[in-house]
Amino acid sequence: MPPGRRLGPWQAQSPQALNSSWAAGEESIDQAWWRRSTEVEPVVAPAADAEEPAAQTLRAMARQAEFDAQLEDAKALLPRGCALEAMFSMLDRGHKGYLSDMDLWQFDQDFGGPTSFGSFCSLVNEVRLVRKPGLPQSSHQTADASLPGRLDLCDLGVLIYPSGSQEYDALRVAGSDDEAKSILYLLRHSDPCPGCGMRAQRNADAAGCPSVTCPACGAAFRCFSVVRDGASLSAPEAEPVPAAARHQLHRLLSSTARLADAMETDRRRLAQRLTSFGCSLGGVFSAIAGGRSVLGAADLRRALLRLGLRVPEHELGLLWRRYAPPGAAAVEPSDFARQLQPRGVGAAAVASGFATTM
Ligand SMILES: [Zn+2]
Repeated sequence: MPPGRRLGPWQAQSPQALNSSWAAGEESIDQAWWRRSTEVEPVVAPAADAEEPAAQTLRAMARQAEFDAQLEDAKALLPRGCALEAMFSMLDRGHKGYLSDMDLWQFDQDFGGPTSFGSFCSLVNEVRLVRKPGLPQSSHQTADASLPGRLDLCDLGVLIYPSGSQEYDALRVAGSDDEAKSILYLLRHSDPCPGCGMRAQRNADAAGCPSVTCPACGAAFRCFSVVRDGASLSAPEAEPVPAAARHQLHRLLSSTARLADAMETDRRRLAQRLTSFGCSLGGVFSAIAGGRSVLGAADLRRALLRLGLRVPEHELGLLWRRYAPPGAAAVEPSDFARQLQPRGVGAAAVASGFATTM
């Protein structure tokens, strides 16, 4: 990579993005994905079904994994190099500092989209389920993006960056949009030391020679990020969003909104089914975890296999990332309930459900 060139967020972290059909002008993957994403039916059958609550729950989880994989496919179709801040700024009509479900719906309407407003409400809920529990913290947000029905910059990042990318992992736990912007700046304008991971820039005096020595661990490496003065860096939010990116963002948002709606339907049906069995998610958790207080990745894999559900490994990884909080080695009952409880059921109700059954 020549000096002065840097990888865009999608190029840097997503092998899927590198294979994106967009760049190559191939429509086949795109079209196939689009067709698949529009053929969604809830998996929890409404008919009377005597299948055990744990099995029903695991089927709903397997479907969440499938949806998460479809979302990742959709992310890979976004054109590379378009700044997250620019997309946020474009969607934020009225410059409120947050995105409302109405903003997303109106953007869809601009494209003549048939997706319902309710689906965008489901989408907002779904994105916020993926953020670290308890975030965003409203005290850090100037525009109170933490209120229901709103997304902040970090939320949009989680929706757009590939799961497991540096941007995704950082924005998932970022406490505020200012922190998110700092992280994005660092990722764009610095290179990681191969020895210790510390991010480095070269100063302008050394612009001609890319060889640097890490001040922290002494490792020698080639660094292509050169410090520039603030005036020469254009604000990412002011960058125009190309028509191709707008089009693909619209497809990502509208199809993900429909997937989110189907997931919400699954949750409601699952809740009805559990009620009819006189069982709660706490009881299901206990059954899947073999009576232990936390659920490990191996427990989940075993439980799915026992039911004959062969979830591909990459989907299992996405499912685990959805359930386990960042950095956690196991899923707690509250994490489990958070992902399976229908929208509108408060944390207190979830907690009391566990209290009565565990
Ligand atoms: Zn180092």
